[in-house]
This record gives sequence, structure tokens and C-alpha cells, in this order.
Amino acid sequence: MKKPFADHKTIAKIAETHPTPFHLYDEAGIRNTARAVNAAFSWNAGYLEYFAVKANPNPAILAILKEEGCGVDCSSLTELMLAEALGFRGPKIMFSSNATPAADFIYARELGATVNLDDFSHIDFLDRHAGIPETICCRYNPGRFDIQTGIMDSPAEAKYGFTKEQLRAGFPLLREKGARAFGLHAFLASNTLGPAYYPALARLLFETAVWLKEETGIALSFINLSGGVGIPYRPEEEANDIGRIGALVREAYEEILAPAKLAGLRLCTEMGRFMLGPHGCLVATALHSKDIYKRYIGLDACAADLMRPAVYGAYHHITVSGKEDRPADHIYDITGSLCENNDKFAVDRALPEIKKGDLLVIHDTGAHGYAMGYNYNGKLRSAELLLCANGSVRPIRRAERPADYFATLSDTPFGERLNEIAARLP
Ligand SMILES: *Cc1c(COP(=O)(O)O)cnc(C)c1O
Repeated sequence: MKKPFADHKTIAKIAETHPTPFHLYDEAGIRNTARAVNAAFSWNAGYLEYFAVKANPNPAILAILKEEGCGVDCSSLTELMLAEALGFRGPKIMFSSNATPAADFIYARELGATVNLDDFSHIDFLDRHAGIPETICCRYNPGRFDIQTGIMDSPAEAKYGFTKEQLRAGFPLLREKGARAFGLHAFLASNTLGPAYYPALARLLFETAVWLKEETGIALSFINLSGGVGIPYRPEEEANDIGRIGALVREAYEEILAPAKLAGLRLCTEMGRFMLGPHGCLVATALHSKDIYKRYIGLDACAADLMRPAVYGAYHHITVSGKEDRPADHIYDITGSLCENNDKFAVDRALPEIKKGDLLVIHDTGAHGYAMGYNYNGKLRSAELLLCANGSVRPIRRAERPADYFATLSDTPFGERLNEIAARLP
């Protein structure tokens, strides 16, 4: 049975003082996962996990990961600003962007971030706007990538990365322009379960590193395995064993890199989902119960708080808090309040009978949850709370207010009027 990280007593007590909906994060869980990841790759001197900020850009979360020794992987100007505010500098920042504006490259260079180039043409673009740094990474798109377990993506359909030929031309061009240390990155599958993905990806990248050395004489300094390690969203799925994944990557490392005299190569990762996904949940209250051709429970949360079910049809497990031991003998669609029929957290889900006022815990929202939030239908994004390791609860972001929603209209004739109205109503 899939249980929330906080029991009913804890959730109910938090909801007494913090109005729903809110995302709740589990500090102890975050720290445990970060430690397991660091241990799994501790055989590699210089290993670093760059947490993918886009998965959860809350500064309090980034501060916890910083304490655990992680760096950050940023993809935009504002994510770089978060990195700067948290005191990340230089080699602790990876900048993995695409279709990148010049201003972002300039700022990334200012912070001394390791730039991970998405395209061959960005070599000139970066050179012209910000200069080529000493350390640089290139993102590889092999066009084809099959792994044994049936997990398969088609990189040829993806917008990212250099082709193999472009790598062969790109690294020497970067060297000509002054780069001295080189890395190779690829991100070829998302939310993978089972231990096959990272080892298969590592093999591909290690073999490419050997090939690049033969072809160009350039010995890479690091390999970036990026993200893609998954989590068990469904109760019947099994969690990844990161220790085993690390050990299998090590096997590939020793087999391929040691004979090629590339044995000092540093590894890094940019995991988001694996680091944070299970350590967050969205807590919402059942506001309405509706009986037509199907049965619906309407929540005070909506897809603006968690859009994965609406956009990907993604499964998120749901627990009716306090009814964990009751039989799941009712079938519901669990909905939000958007005027969009895809605003459903669950469709035809078997759950215990839900009464108005029940607290529902939507699992695994720690990554790509709040972060993907938006304001469609004028919905305001929820608050974020941290369940600290000592059991206390700390607000780490307030809920949006109407004035936040209207803030970008402040320079228009309606700005002042909207602000007056927003101030009058809660
Ligand atoms: C999204 C992203 C990640 C994180 O991916 P997860 O699947 O959350 O681990 C890492 N690197 C890059 C470049 C990404 O775009």
C-alpha cells in the first residue's frame, strides 16, 4: 500500500492552521535521497548531482540540497538568479538550456557556471555574446537509443543536442576558441524505472568519449548523465535502487574508460524527479460531491497546482487522509475547478467513500508539481510548506493573492482599480 509520508494526524493538524490547498515537502526524505545518491556514486572522485531546479524551484528546498553537497542545474535566467541567491557559484552550477537568449548565456558566464551547449550553432552564438569559457559541455543527441527493458525514446524526434558528427567538429572548434576542459551530456529517456537506463546511457556516452578521443585527440573531463531516473507513481511499481544503478554505471566505467586511459573522468547527474518527486504531496479539501452519469469529487485544488494529470494523463496516487484502512469501494473522478474537462486528478479511481471536508493527499508532487503551476482561469497558485526533520512545519511560499495575479497590469489604466478590488476581498 502506498502511504503518504505524513500520517493523518500530522496532515489534519497542519490543515488546521494552513488553509488547503498546499504542497507539503518532507525534509527528512529529501535528505535521505540526496545521501543515497551521493553514496551511490561516491566511487567516482568528483561526482556531483546538479539538482534540476526546474523540478522544484523553491529556495528552501535548494538550501537543503546545498547542505547535502548538491549543485544546481539551471535552464533559464530566473533559475540562475535563484542559484546566485542561494550562494551557488562556478562549478556548482550547470547551465543546461536550449533556444537560449544571449542574456542568459552572459549571466551564466558571470556566475562561472558550466555551460552545457544544446547546439553546434551555439558555439558561435556563445562566443559572440559571452565568450567561450574554459570548461564547457555539449549535449549529445544520438538519434537512436534502445535499451533492453523496453524503455525507449526516440531522440531523433527530440529538439535537443548535437549529432555525433557535430560533436566531432564542435569540440575541436571549442578548443580553438579557448576551451580547455570538456564534458558530454545526454538526456534520452524520462521517468525510467528499473536499473537499465543510466548504465545504458553511460555506456553510450563513455563509448562516445573514447571515439572522440580517437577522432579529435580531446580527452573529456566529465560525463553528465542528466535526469530521467524515475519514481513509482503507481502503487504496483517498485522504487529505483540508486545504489544498484550507481554500481552498474561503475561497471561500464571500468570496462570502457579504464582501457582507453580516460579513467579520471568525473561523473555528474541532473536529477529532478528522483531527488524530489516522492518527497512532496498536494493536500486538498473535498468541496463538492456530484452525481450525474459519473460520480465526481470537486477539490479546492486544480490543475493550476498540479498539471501533470491534465497534460500527460499522468497517474498520481491519492489517499483520503484518515480513511487509509477503509475499503476502496467507491469509484470517483477527482476534479479541480478549471473550466477544462481534463482538470481531473484521477479518473475512475477506486477510493473509500469521500465526504465533503475530507482531506485528500495527492502523492508524488515534489517534482514538476508546483513548478509547472500556472494561472489559467485566474486560478491562484497554492502555498508550499516544509515538514521539517524535527516535525515542525515551516511555510516556504505563501499562496498567491489576487494582487499577484493583477501585478503585471499595474502600468495599465485598470491596474489601480484592480488593486483596490483585490485589497477589498480576501
Ligand atoms: C528536466 C531536466 C532534468 C531533470 O529531469 P528529471 O526527469 O526530473 O530527472 C535534467 N536535465 C535537463 C537538461 C532537463 O531538462
